[in-house]
Amino acid sequence: MTNSFIKPSLFQDEMNRLGAMFTPLDAKKMDIYYDEFKYVSIATIREAVRVLVGQHPFRRFPLPAELWSAIAAVRKKAAARRYAQEAKEQLGECSKCLSMGWKKIPDKYIEGIPYSYVTFCDCRIGQRMRSAFEYKKRTAERENPKLAYQDIHGVVPDPVETESIEDENLKEQNNDDHQREYED
Ligand SMILES: [Zn+2]
Repeated sequence: MTNSFIKPSLFQDEMNRLGAMFTPLDAKKMDIYYDEFKYVSIATIREAVRVLVGQHPFRRFPLPAELWSAIAAVRKKAAARRYAQEAKEQLGECSKCLSMGWKKIPDKYIEGIPYSYVTFCDCRIGQRMRSAFEYKKRTAERENPKLAYQDIHGVVPDPVETESIEDENLKEQNNDDHQREYED
């Protein structure tokens, strides 16, 4: 939480840009708008003004509520960008699987017929997918013991016999988290 106000002249510059596009604010309204938006960062105001110049459909100056909506859209986009960046930094990038989490393995021949398979990559992205997959498999087996895991919607059949990468002590809660991230 910051208590610093936007510099009035910077704020006025932005409002004047909107004023040039739509209808200019008089001094009294400018004061009211400044009072309403003085805590918002100038970078956010600038971006919101850019959005309004492109999208505001009326010939009048945007109402405070419309400016707030544009600000909310700008903030939401910035938050999504931050989130994607954080996920990328956390998991890294992988050239083996192009950060998709799975990769093709050599065809398997069953009675002379080649079958294509994919498996989870060794990277963190792939391992995260694998643990989400293992969770789905366990859940499905618990709920319907007859169901083969290849039948579970959205999972990749994996013919490679590998140990689960999950620590047996991992709590169900963690698995729930993986599950959610995987599905998002
Ligand atoms: Zn990978």
